[in-house]
Amino acid sequence: MEVKCIICGRKEIITKVHKDYRKLARNQTVFTCEICREKIKFEANKLQKKSR
Ligand SMILES: [Zn+2]
Repeated sequence: MEVKCIICGRKEIITKVHKDYRKLARNQTVFTCEICREKIKFEANKLQKKSR
């Protein structure tokens, strides 16, 4: 199944072994690629540190 990252638009092929396969098969618009996921995690950490 081909999915498109909602943030950067990068296309990726995912297979049934992917942990989010079933979720994405139902709703492909929620896919974010690994790069964007890392970025989100990083930004979240940064925000947490700032609010402290
Ligand atoms: Zn992306």
